[in-house]
Amino acid sequence: MKLPFETAQIIEYRCNICNGKNRLESNLFHRELANCRKCGANARFRGIIHVLADLVGEGELTALQDWTVRKNILGAGMSDWPGYANLLGKKFSYENTFYDREPRLDIMNLAEKHMGRYDFVISTDVFEHVLQPLQQGFDNLFRILKPGGGLVFSVPYTRTAQTMEHYPGLHDYEILNFRGGKIIVNRDDAGRLQAYDNPVFHGGEGTTLEMRVFCETDVLSHLARAGFVNIRVHDQPQLSIGYYWPELMSADPSAPPLYAYIISARRPVIVSD
Ligand SMILES: [Zn+2]
Repeated sequence: MKLPFETAQIIEYRCNICNGKNRLESNLFHRELANCRKCGANARFRGIIHVLADLVGEGELTALQDWTVRKNILGAGMSDWPGYANLLGKKFSYENTFYDREPRLDIMNLAEKHMGRYDFVISTDVFEHVLQPLQQGFDNLFRILKPGGGLVFSVPYTRTAQTMEHYPGLHDYEILNFRGGKIIVNRDDAGRLQAYDNPVFHGGEGTTLEMRVFCETDVLSHLARAGFVNIRVHDQPQLSIGYYWPELMSADPSAPPLYAYIISARRPVIVSD
């Protein structure tokens, strides 16, 4: 995102989750940092709520804690950050779901009860971890929404020409300890054995394997193929709520930078044939 000024400045913002007052130098903003001093929300989480505010018709500058209670609105998150998930549960009939525990939602293997159920779905930094076929995951995001429902979506992505799949043949695999590190051993669907070195995991309890680094155009075309409309990349900073980050440079200087802005999309009300 490009700032409206050239040199580093102090940015004063009000957190759009807890209404906490913050100030931070513009060069210290980061997608996964720049935490609110009151609730701990990082810039990505403020971005998620910023985009959701628009989808559910809340004022963009009203903090989530002050949103109107509307229990007739059904929402779901996929391993959402508890800091905003708890508030969403107070405002809406919202359920934070998990891949491996109740309340369970496996986006690659949907239960019938989730179909056409939600007015909004949040999927933030999940799809870089799901197995192939990827389009099925995007199709299922579409299916769990009601007609007219809105998606708030994010993944780390580049603006290169291609998604980088780290393990294209992953089929029947296990992550093993090997000489002080981890390796992936895989049997592909033709029965061939493969080994992959230096897998990348994303933190938290129980590590989650990074399967790919998306490129932006692929994300957008997967969403369009699933049937989504009004697909929008929220790449403009909203400084008053601290939704801003510069492109993320990797430790490896040859790796392309990540942009990874929040994306919104809608399931159309009427599906045309
Ligand atoms: Zn906050």
